[in-house]
Amino acid sequence: MAAQETTTKHWRFHTDVERLGWLTIDTAGAGVNTLSREAIMELETLVARIEDLVSSGEVIGVILLSGKDSGFIAGADISEFDAMSDFSVLPEALKRTHALFARIEKLKVPVVAGIHGFCLGGGLELALACHYRIAVNDEKTRIGFPEVNLGIFPGFGGTGRSIRQAGPVDAMQIMLTGKMLKAGAARGLNLVDKLVRHRDMLAWEARKAVLQKRRSRPAPPVKRAMALGPVRGYLATKMSEEAGKKARKEHYPAPFALIDLFEAHGNDWQAMIRGEIDAFVPLMGTDTATNLRRVFFASEGLKKQGAKGAKFARVHVIGAGVMGGDIAAWCALRGMAVTLQDIDMERIKPALERGKALFKKRLKSKREVDTAMLRIEADPNGKGVARADVIIEAVVEKLEVKQAIFSGIEDQLKPGAILATNTSSIELERIAEELKNPARLIGLHFFNPVAQLPLVEVIRSSFNSDAEIGKGAAFALAIGKSPVVVKSAPGFLVNRVLMPYMLGAVKRVEAGESKELLDAAAVAFGMPMGPIELMDTVGLDVGQSVARELGQAVPAESKFAGLVNAGKLGRKSGEGFYKWVDGKAQKGEVPAHADLAGLGRELVQPLVDTTEVVVEEGVVANAGLADIGVILGTGFAPFLGGPLKARADGRA
Ligand code: NAD
Repeated sequence: MAAQETTTKHWRFHTDVERLGWLTIDTAGAGVNTLSREAIMELETLVARIEDLVSSGEVIGVILLSGKDSGFIAGADISEFDAMSDFSVLPEALKRTHALFARIEKLKVPVVAGIHGFCLGGGLELALACHYRIAVNDEKTRIGFPEVNLGIFPGFGGTGRSIRQAGPVDAMQIMLTGKMLKAGAARGLNLVDKLVRHRDMLAWEARKAVLQKRRSRPAPPVKRAMALGPVRGYLATKMSEEAGKKARKEHYPAPFALIDLFEAHGNDWQAMIRGEIDAFVPLMGTDTATNLRRVFFASEGLKKQGAKGAKFARVHVIGAGVMGGDIAAWCALRGMAVTLQDIDMERIKPALERGKALFKKRLKSKREVDTAMLRIEADPNGKGVARADVIIEAVVEKLEVKQAIFSGIEDQLKPGAILATNTSSIELERIAEELKNPARLIGLHFFNPVAQLPLVEVIRSSFNSDAEIGKGAAFALAIGKSPVVVKSAPGFLVNRVLMPYMLGAVKRVEAGESKELLDAAAVAFGMPMGPIELMDTVGLDVGQSVARELGQAVPAESKFAGLVNAGKLGRKSGEGFYKWVDGKAQKGEVPAHADLAGLGRELVQPLVDTTEVVVEEGVVANAGLADIGVILGTGFAPFLGGPLKARADGRA
């Protein structure tokens, strides 16, 4: 019997002396594997070939692996989704893929998937159509269904097959949240059958699985019972309530459509798969899905900005207050060695404690927490400056203090080290003017709370060259943040667009309108939080000083100024416009209003207008960048694609 070997553009297939068929996906011209239409069509041909080899007894099992270091399969090819949204194309394409995956499932020999790295979306759906799954149990493996983030749900049979494997409650949970699981968690949910320690053990373990004819078992009856009879209806209602807390159906229809599908067919995984295409097709071309794809590509685009080859290991942060302390902790969490400087130890201690709390929340074991704590060092004398690859100043917002600090350290810097300020409002040129080399200073503007907000504005002064800015962006990426380059101009991007929106709402409240109504209206429009609650969250004192910097000073006789003078600074002091208990604003009734979303749209006008101005002035390079920056920095309705896209679509 001659060994078989076939190579297509995206796949390789060969048989060995043991009559095992080795199928490897290796997407041409890309760093990660995706299931493009072309890859799926090639797979159809290969599966037909495998069916023949199985019939003739030349193949006794198939092993599916990835040829890429980056992982198994990251999903369907999202760059094809716009074209695929066409109703004349999509149902047929989905039917073909469904039929193909069913043929794989029906092969009379064991089909085993070996998973490392990313196994997401369509990749997981293909793995679930195999009979047995082995995954590498390391930090890099990520298994899940991120489709909801793109306004859809799994469409290659993953809805039914994940329910078959994990049971309805867990499967729906992972599809509704888009959460990516590590290998151990995926094993716990029965999405994976076996774990191995290293990638180089995958092939061997898969071979054993084939020879021993191992087959995955479906979820046990006790789990499946949750989808039977009236329990399913009850479960569906609960899921809708939960989904409704996070998003509105009119803004994000996909989770609700998935719950409807589950309510109709969740007791029968095959019926779920049969119903999947009809439920899926209408979602793909919605404005929400189109805009979420745009946001996805814009965020991916941000990742390509950083200077190539820049390496960062040591960070020195000056100022251990709200921002400096949290920036230092974040950098340590992300693996940097950090020195943290302030006037004395007493001021550094609370920051270290907050750092420990962050590590405990984000890291699994005590050992990891202890190691992270070792990475952050109190440094009242600034010894870390000379060794640091990145220096971030986050002291009080006073020009002369910042100037003195930079002049004091300029001669100690390592060649090529990034020198950055976290100033919110002072022009970079003014801070840099005392430096011998003012081109060195850039802005790295983080947002509060640092651990939660993904955006870092990389501020470019008129002295900077592309080199400094590229390095700044690379550093932001290295600590897992999303950099948007913004010119040094008052308020940069995010504060500049937020302030007129928040102040506009404050003015209306001062004129007698209900703060609850305005906040509810903004949320109905699609903002994550209303403008008054946001002002309380940011802090009225911070809001007041940013407003002043932007030439929109709050009048001394206003209620706003009164609150600041009375120390009612918002969430942090327990009271601002709202009273705050356990981190929650205590809100009264929302008065009835005929068009809540319309009112919300009216409230965000100043934000959208200002974003237009910012682009016109060249503060941000283009509308796409402004949109993604405002989404990441303010939470502006992602389903609308950002303020400028929303305006172009006549929706803001
Ligand atoms: P903060 O008052 O909480 O902390 C400032 C810290 O700097 C204090 O611990 C203080 O002791 C220290 N400090 C003052 N002079 C110093 C010196 N000479 N050497 C070393 N340390 C010194 O202030 P913050 O809110 O963390 O703001 C810090 C910077 O970050 C400011 O430039 C601010 O504009 C900017 N920022 C603040 C926010 C925010 O929401 N708070 C957001 C983004 C940027």
